[in-house]
Amino acid sequence: MKTIIFSGVLGCFIAASTFFACADESKAKKETIIEVMEKAPEQPTAPVKKTDEEWKKELTPEQYRILREDGTERANGDVYKEFKKQGAGTYYCAGCNAELFTSTEKFDSNCGWPSFYDPAKAKNVKYTTDYHLGYARTEVTCKICEGHLGHVFEGEGFETPTDKRYCINGTVLKFVAAEDTKEEQEKD
Ligand SMILES: [Zn+2]
Repeated sequence: MKTIIFSGVLGCFIAASTFFACADESKAKKETIIEVMEKAPEQPTAPVKKTDEEWKKELTPEQYRILREDGTERANGDVYKEFKKQGAGTYYCAGCNAELFTSTEKFDSNCGWPSFYDPAKAKNVKYTTDYHLGYARTEVTCKICEGHLGHVFEGEGFETPTDKRYCINGTVLKFVAAEDTKEEQEKD
């Protein structure tokens, strides 16, 4: 009997360790690649406000650092490589699921960060001026959750319809491939 209980406990312990090991692994993965979702997330209908504690629980440390502390991901990292490989689809805010960009406005600027020439949903982004580097830059923020996304630069000579480069941290984007959103688009 003792042996049965013991092996039962041991079994649970092994199962639990495996589970936590897997959970850790998936979290680590999320830090370096753009989170891919199966289908378009439900859109927020009101501003999303959370405490720092709540954000820390929901976001990966890297997402928190960028969205809530105006951080910047490493240039030319795994996120950028992943972004370049992604085909047609839509990008949503990792903080609140608001639609931000689509692959239609995506272009290769070779700057090391995901680039777009326009947001898909202009009403979901807002602009402020920051002087973090000692000169004025236009910061791009998610209007729904106030999360920092990146910056927008103008007049750099890119052959895009707007000559704007939205230089965005891929870590704070969620991607839904176009095949999965087709039905939604047909309904619109
Ligand atoms: Zn957001």
